[in-house]
Amino acid sequence: MLIINEDDLQTIFANCSREYPNEACGILAGSPGVVEQVYAMTNARPGLASYEMDPEEQFRVMKAIRRSGLGIVGIYHSHPSGPAYPSGIDVERAYWPGTLFPNFPDAAYMIVSLAHPSNPAARTFAISDGQISEVELIVRQA
Ligand SMILES: [Zn+2]
Repeated sequence: MLIINEDDLQTIFANCSREYPNEACGILAGSPGVVEQVYAMTNARPGLASYEMDPEEQFRVMKAIRRSGLGIVGIYHSHPSGPAYPSGIDVERAYWPGTLFPNFPDAAYMIVSLAHPSNPAARTFAISDGQISEVELIVRQA
């Protein structure tokens, strides 16, 4: 289960819409199971079907997250025209958090679909060893 405030979710949707038609990506910081801060990240390799966080920016953001006493509870990226479901590439590259963020084994993958641009949809998943399981996303109204 991952809990997020409505306004944080809207921040994510705005970031994804801004990067359209490329994929957007970002980091979700908070306490276990609760998103408290959204960091939109630069897509260092923008493409219609891929994203890669800029390593230096990622390092800076991780430091800021640690300093604020929070942890990484997830990462998000958009599917500009696809469903809010992990692609083959997403599963293949689900080496994070194991490699990229070794201290955050429970972090979830949020995928935002812009298939209906005026009505973005978000779903959250755990991906490990090639297995996808949905993590319930609870949106808290302000
Ligand atoms: Zn994807």
